[in-house]
Amino acid sequence: AKTATGTCAVFYQQDMEKQTRRRYLLDTDMRKALTQNDFFMVAQPQVDDNGHIIGAELLIRWNHSELGNIAPMEFIGIAEKTGFIIPLGEWIFEQACLCIKSLQALSLTKPITLAINLSAKQFYQADLIERITAIINKHQITVCNIELELTESAMLEDVDLAVAKITALKKIGFEVSIDDFGTGYSSLSYLKHLPVDKIKIDRSFVTLIDKRDDSRAIVEATMLIARTFNLDLIAEGVETEAEVNTLKALGCKAFQGYFYYKPISINDFFLLVTEQYTL
Ligand code: C2E
Ligand code: CA
Ligand code: CA
Ligand code: CA
Repeated sequence: AKTATGTCAVFYQQDMEKQTRRRYLLDTDMRKALTQNDFFMVAQPQVDDNGHIIGAELLIRWNHSELGNIAPMEFIGIAEKTGFIIPLGEWIFEQACLCIKSLQALSLTKPITLAINLSAKQFYQADLIERITAIINKHQITVCNIELELTESAMLEDVDLAVAKITALKKIGFEVSIDDFGTGYSSLSYLKHLPVDKIKIDRSFVTLIDKRDDSRAIVEATMLIARTFNLDLIAEGVETEAEVNTLKALGCKAFQGYFYYKPISINDFFLLVTEQYTL
């Protein structure tokens, strides 16, 4: 019999098959894309409370020859599952090092921080420190004003191991920030053990800051946490002037979001900071 639920089940199954096929296709193509240079990095500027650039987050992009732009949320997720994130993450880190080297060569009048996203798998790989050290040495990078972003949920997967890894990374000279703060299993007890430098307030709370009291309360609580633990703080996904004003009123001093800048090419980012910060 053709019940409504039966039809749903068929559609659901077709949907699942379509998804499985797409995942398989993207997995195969990702491997080719890495050798064909179809990935590239962009930079999203971060600003202080005067709107002046203080840094940028580096974000990966994939322009698929047939499917066009694939969202990193989609392909990074697949790469995490298949393990391809390890070579991809290494490529990302190397690209980031090249950016950092070019940035350092600009001799700007103000220090500009570049942030790199580390995936959970990459962070927990046994030889992370050796691999990172090898790339730094290969390109003769001075590890200064380089921030590594790790999601809150990644850090909480294994707090003891995370503490050891973060400590080792900081010893090399990296700064470490907690990405997507507030979306994990936020518990204050773990925070005091994590030797991190910065918290990034997740966009989901910023978006609702003027609409929902609970989001505003989470932002306020996060700022209090940052002050208590002496951590830097940046608000992510700031899209409107109203959000900026509320965040500023609450004491926020660093911002990243479309209201200021969308992700731009590395070249445009360099032009922007050169314009602002050369004598
Ligand atoms: P994320 O690390 O939280 O990065 C911030 C995301 O928010 C970026 O999306 C950025 O373009 C977007 N964004 C920034 N400001 C706004 C805003 O005002 N409004 C809205 N709606 N969005 C804003 P993107 O580039 O699509 O990246 C999505 C996620 O994919 C990232 O979230 C990160 O988890 C992952 N990802 C991106 N690049 C990399 C990478 O190089 N390595 C790793 N491991 N993950 C990456
Ligand atoms: Ca991030
Ligand atoms: Ca984030
Ligand atoms: Ca600090």
